[in-house]
Amino acid sequence: MISQIDKYIGKLSNQGLCLPDDATMLFLDADISANRPQSECNPELMRIFDHMNINSLLFGRPAEPYWTIINAMMKYEKSVDQLGRIMPQDCETKTFFHDIPIINTFSAAAIADALSHRKSVIIRGHGIASWGSVSPEQAFVSFSSTCFAMFVKFFNDMLRIFCDERNPDESVAKLLNSILNKLKIIQPDFKQAQLHHGAAASHIEALGMIAEAGRAVVNHRLVDSFFGNISYLLDNSIYISQTGSSLDELERCIDAVPMDGSSSAGITASSELSAHKNIYLSSNSRCVLHGHPRFSVIMSMRSNATEPECRLMGIPVVSGDIGTGSKGIMHTVPPAVHECGCTVVQGHGVFACGKADFNEPLSRMLEFEKVCFYECLSTLRSSCPASLTKFLPNLYN
Ligand SMILES: [Zn+2]
Repeated sequence: MISQIDKYIGKLSNQGLCLPDDATMLFLDADISANRPQSECNPELMRIFDHMNINSLLFGRPAEPYWTIINAMMKYEKSVDQLGRIMPQDCETKTFFHDIPIINTFSAAAIADALSHRKSVIIRGHGIASWGSVSPEQAFVSFSSTCFAMFVKFFNDMLRIFCDERNPDESVAKLLNSILNKLKIIQPDFKQAQLHHGAAASHIEALGMIAEAGRAVVNHRLVDSFFGNISYLLDNSIYISQTGSSLDELERCIDAVPMDGSSSAGITASSELSAHKNIYLSSNSRCVLHGHPRFSVIMSMRSNATEPECRLMGIPVVSGDIGTGSKGIMHTVPPAVHECGCTVVQGHGVFACGKADFNEPLSRMLEFEKVCFYECLSTLRSSCPASLTKFLPNLYN
């Protein structure tokens, strides 16, 4: 189990979520294993296993800019004191987490109490704790999703304060500037990786292309957590990443689902399979990439997807619930993708397609994330009162 623990400690570090020295991952089997000697683990963390029926626990102080964002939110967000929780605003975290509880004491009982209802908890002044009952992977995913949700909420709050309420003060301007300073660490690399060129000649090649594209979206930091999926159409079958699979390790996590519905393999396939299928039925696309790039999500939340022809930087914005209901993305996404090759689901993420290989959708997703990042900065800049510009040099260079 030590190798599993080391793997997720490595992922936390590689994805800029938490430095190895600031993370403690515990796994309970016959005994407790950890990424450090037990004498160096906080005994309160080990006692959580007495309160909960879980086998994995992750506690860590998030890396920057997340830690500054979370600490700032503890002060400015009214729901922290009023309700003892933070309400995420992006669609996936809202669907799967509901809310993120905040506690003030670092004790096994308080942490276990919060975690018995939710996937993660913020312990004020200390960090984030999350758990798994099957594997350490669950704890890692919940930690990552919590960081993502806080990031999206923070920029949404800044856009609201600067552009809608128009009442930022000096402290907000300085806070935003310090976050922009720290952003470079986790910004996507906009210089595109070159992927396999041309259509897949065999299903083995298609599987390799999907795995390669999955690693690319993670390496480009276009997905923070596991939310996202990838598919390729070959010989009337959709090869698609399994639900909940890690996009940088797809090699053995791809299902083949016949387009005619003649197999039940779709059970483990992504919950967004129906959206992929309808894209293939309504266009001549061969591959689909879906991810949750942060600034695409942030800026889409300021659009009104119920308006006809709603666009963000030229790309259609659609609404759409997760799942297969009448208002689900399986109905809203395909016509928009068919038209533009790319669409953003409001508050959720981007779907991009290509006619032969993943270079085309990857470039669409990267380009859209880039324009959304610069659009976010310019929206904030144009709403910044002249008296505050000196506190925000990062917005102006
Ligand atoms: Zn999604």
